[in-house]
Amino acid sequence: MGLSGLLFVFVAPLTLYRLFILDWQVFALDVYLIGSAALIFTCAYRQQYIVFSKLYMCLLVSLGSAMTVLLGGAHQVYWIYPASLTMFFLTSTRVAYLYVLLMCALIIPTLQASLTTLEFINIFVALFGTTFFINVFANEIKSENRNLDLLATQDFLTKSGNRRAFDHALEMTLKESVILNTPSCLIVIDIDNFKLLNDNHGHSVGDAVLKHLVKSAQTVLRKTDTVYRIGGEEFAILMEDASLDDARGLAEKIRQTIEADSAKATPYYTISLGIAALVSGENGCDWLNRADKAMYEAKRSGKNRVVANT
Ligand code: GH3
Ligand code: MG
Ligand code: MG
Repeated sequence: MGLSGLLFVFVAPLTLYRLFILDWQVFALDVYLIGSAALIFTCAYRQQYIVFSKLYMCLLVSLGSAMTVLLGGAHQVYWIYPASLTMFFLTSTRVAYLYVLLMCALIIPTLQASLTTLEFINIFVALFGTTFFINVFANEIKSENRNLDLLATQDFLTKSGNRRAFDHALEMTLKESVILNTPSCLIVIDIDNFKLLNDNHGHSVGDAVLKHLVKSAQTVLRKTDTVYRIGGEEFAILMEDASLDDARGLAEKIRQTIEADSAKATPYYTISLGIAALVSGENGCDWLNRADKAMYEAKRSGKNRVVANT
């Protein structure tokens, strides 16, 4: 988002200048650049098509730099360095090198025609050195970001998503359901008599049960469903593009799997599940409250069952 915003802010005045001096070729290129920057900014702002936006941004930077050299001459070659830097931070090493190669292939004839062999070699040796070091730094930063992201969004014990990740996913699902007009469902799961289980078997066995629940549930989830730990022994599953019947089917499958799996090993435990389909116009808090209410209804009516809020 920041990059596309910067691109827009820096190139927009230059576009007006090109129009003013009637430099039509570069004007057309600048219009293409700021139009694309605006498109990428919109996608990033709405948190949609993020991978596409990054790849398109790389293509834009790669082609934009090459076109600047082709139209402006070999002395514009310094643009390939910041362009390469951008690409290594936006995408994987392999894809970034492909874009760098594309950029180089486009500018080589222009450079060959107007530079000495030594200048030509210097430019590419400098580019190789720059991309090598950028790649090392970018990979280190990406790996640290991945670790930080996991720390911020993953539950340490069960490795499911944590409450923060759930709150974020809930908001995203709400937005997407409105934009795409698709049904979404929320399942809330609570372990039955977990306090007693802890008292009888010990806290570490209780912890193993929490892990077991997540693993078992994950074996029956669809690829698009995610499980989050939203409280001590409470979990939630967000199901995008799923009807109440789909959610009821999945919830029943999870309940049966847990019951059957845990019967084979100690300790035996069961779960109660509440389901709510998203109602148009409601916010995340109301949606979660309705699923919670259904789960408490399942507790009141005897536990180890699925209840839907209709
Ligand atoms: P119900 O069937 O009505 O849900 O009863 P319950 O005993 O499951 O409910 P209650 O809310 O009374 O107990 C929840 C227990 O979960 C109490 C707490 O000690 C335990 N708990 C919460 N977090 C953890 C955890 O990380 N590990 C373990 N082992 N226990 C936990
Ligand atoms: Mg419980
Ligand atoms: Mg509870």
